[in-house]
Amino acid sequence: MIVAIDGPSGTGKSTVAKSVAARLGFTFFDTGAMYRSFAYWILKNGVPSTHPEEVSKWISSFQFSITKNQEAERAYLVNGIDVTQEIRSPEISSISSQIATYPEVRKAMVKMQRRFGRASNAVFEGRDMGTVVFPDADVKIFLTANPAIRAERRYKELVAKFPDLSEELRLDQVMQEMADRDQNDSNRSISPLRQAPDALLIDTSDLTIDQVVERILAQVPKNSTPPMKWSYRLIHSLAHFFFRAFFRLKVYGKEHLRPGAGLLIANHTSNYDPPVLSSSCPDEVHFLAKESLFQVPLLGSLIRILNAHPVSRSSSDLHVLKEMIQMLSQGKKLIVFPEGKRSPDGTLHPFERGFSFLSMKAKCPIFPAYIQGTYEAWPIHRKIPRLFGKIVCVFGSPIEWDDFEDLPKKEAEEALQKRCFEAISALKEWIDEGAKGSSP
Ligand code: C5P
Repeated sequence: MIVAIDGPSGTGKSTVAKSVAARLGFTFFDTGAMYRSFAYWILKNGVPSTHPEEVSKWISSFQFSITKNQEAERAYLVNGIDVTQEIRSPEISSISSQIATYPEVRKAMVKMQRRFGRASNAVFEGRDMGTVVFPDADVKIFLTANPAIRAERRYKELVAKFPDLSEELRLDQVMQEMADRDQNDSNRSISPLRQAPDALLIDTSDLTIDQVVERILAQVPKNSTPPMKWSYRLIHSLAHFFFRAFFRLKVYGKEHLRPGAGLLIANHTSNYDPPVLSSSCPDEVHFLAKESLFQVPLLGSLIRILNAHPVSRSSSDLHVLKEMIQMLSQGKKLIVFPEGKRSPDGTLHPFERGFSFLSMKAKCPIFPAYIQGTYEAWPIHRKIPRLFGKIVCVFGSPIEWDDFEDLPKKEAEEALQKRCFEAISALKEWIDEGAKGSSP
């Protein structure tokens, strides 16, 4: 689950976000620290911060990580150097605000932030969390406060952090510096500081930190995974029981799955594949099925409960794709068999490209899976399935659409398709070699 907190500096954002994260047991992520750390890297290497091209050249050598120091406090490392203190200086504040207006810099930072966000439940704070980085965040908050109060808070913070500077620091100067940064942040052409339309606005001027934290916590859903429909849960459990009892079904790699939208792609050899895959997945999943299957007594009702959506022979590919994109945009997981139809001989056949188009269009991850044993249990040429056998289903590491977003559209789809084919082949190999360790 992602809680996105945006707003200008001096609104109490970091303190509030840290506290919300601690209360929820989530990871806290201060994205401003990332821009500041990159500003540090620029400054250290003597790069003129007013030159976007020069600055962008240093992105590839910037290695950012978060760790705990000896006092068990959060520490920010840039290429192995602890910069936690330095990045809070007024000089770094102004450089970070400047470089944050450069599209190449933002693109790289957003990519890193999304990667951190995928790894765990987290509270992210920044300027564009709810609008750009995590538009699907479960909770979105926008903090504001009266400029004089913000400047006073910032002044106190600076005096506490840099006592040596307290003689030189003046409140009016801090206020001016904040106004300049606000101007930069709100008027830049890329990802300006804005309240997302679905974010809750909280004015923190007259509120204590605890009051703000409580208001945010009240927005957090108790359970991030939507409950399964009872009928789906029943059939899901029965199907799982059936495959375990008759086919000794074993499932590996469930840790690779995460809640929310995604494409579950798998090899396809048998009519058993959709129920094996959906009963192996802890989330509710959806799939498309031929309209004629819905006419078959019992089977029709069963697949309807299992979230099958009918596709008629007459519907155009475009219509089907549109429907799938809509489901993904609603945060649903979709099963897609990229070979297009069941393999007649049980081996993996080349993939069609529609699924990679879908992933790029819906900006959703792909979860590769490999199913073994269903071909022997119910191959394409048998009318009636065998009742015993051994089935294995393994999920692999997710494949992220944004690893391909810099490529031209067609190349991106081809590269994604190739990566998926390799991923499923690697899962097959992993099972063939005895399923040791965690799945690739
Ligand atoms: O939040 P903080 O003041 O530490 O951020 C430093 C600077 O980094 C901000 O002035 C802003 O220009 C930039 N920033 C940004 N987008 C974010 C976080 C920070 O542009 N998500």
